[in-house]
Amino acid sequence: MIPYGRQLVDEDDIAAVVAVLRSPLLTGGPAVAAFEAAVATFCGAASAVAVSSGTAALHAAMAALGIGPGDEVVVPALTFAATANCVLYQNARPVVADVDPDTLLLTPAAVERALTAKTRAVIAVDYAGQPCDYAALSALCRDRGLALVADACHSLGGADERGRPVGTLADVTALSFHPVKPVTTGEGGMALTADANLAARMRRFRNHGIDADFTSRESSGQHRYAVVEQGFNYRLSAIHCALGTSQLGKLPAFLAARRRIAATYDAAFADLPFVAPLSRRPGLTHAWHLYVVRLRGLGAGRRDAAHAALLAQGIGVNVHYPPLHLHPHFRRVLGTGPGLCPVAEAASADILTLPLHPALTDDDVARVIAAVRGLSRLFG
Ligand SMILES: *Cc1c(COP(=O)(O)O)cnc(C)c1O
Repeated sequence: MIPYGRQLVDEDDIAAVVAVLRSPLLTGGPAVAAFEAAVATFCGAASAVAVSSGTAALHAAMAALGIGPGDEVVVPALTFAATANCVLYQNARPVVADVDPDTLLLTPAAVERALTAKTRAVIAVDYAGQPCDYAALSALCRDRGLALVADACHSLGGADERGRPVGTLADVTALSFHPVKPVTTGEGGMALTADANLAARMRRFRNHGIDADFTSRESSGQHRYAVVEQGFNYRLSAIHCALGTSQLGKLPAFLAARRRIAATYDAAFADLPFVAPLSRRPGLTHAWHLYVVRLRGLGAGRRDAAHAALLAQGIGVNVHYPPLHLHPHFRRVLGTGPGLCPVAEAASADILTLPLHPALTDDDVARVIAAVRGLSRLFG
């Protein structure tokens, strides 16, 4: 099976992990600070807070922004559950907004329609690795006094039309280092911000709400500490961070490989009337986390038939995502149902994610292309 996404870990990465295992600190300490500094530098962000997952980064953002009971946060309908869960963890309400039919990104118009007097923040998702229209979203958020969070779990390495990197485009940016994501630490995440106050709150939040971490207590000779607000153990170990720093050095090569494979797919499918890749906003740097196509004009149920046919040939296709508001849990908790976000619901029935990651060989890419082209026999 050719998976839709997977890590590319080499001997340098393994050596970096082995080296930290021989060092005195397996959590906290220089390996964590080095990974935070490396990601901050790569993204041009002032502060970076390493946490145990992308979900924890989103949760830390919500907590640091003071999102709580009675508050509403706008989230897009085509995303992973974590984008809504981080709001629910704070006992606030995610309000699901529809996406653009061509890019499947959250649009400023959809955000406007979702606003109420209770709205406090917007979480934009850089679906498939394409940055949202942050110029328009931040103007809207500024006008309304809302915080803007980028769920950039797909888009590390992307940039907007002015070349400003992902990590600098919102008040807080959340990254994930799950194995299918742009770089991996196994599990892991990071929250980026230019705001020193938000960074300090997120550092405290990842460590039980304690006002000083062990390293700073030790260096100041203090044994006293205080839990000053609700926090969690969301720390990322030094072992994970050593892998992350090593992986980050390869990110430019990973991004180039993803871009090259996406361009190969584009060319190979250009003459297939039933395969429509998503639109790309001109001038952006796409991080190419996912290569998503819409299967057009095949009729109801044909996407599922295509999914089954490709899986049967060992092509690990996937669907990103079922509409957020139609998961049983969110229907129950939010009272949502079909018809709330018609664009996302229609897209969710005809999208297919094809394998895209830097560990794909030319042979793998050729197999994917032949199998997708072969769908014309199935649907002929
Ligand atoms: C992967 C992902 C997350 C969660 O990241 P984890 O590291 O798995 O917790 C959140 N949002 C989106 C859009 C993701 O793809």
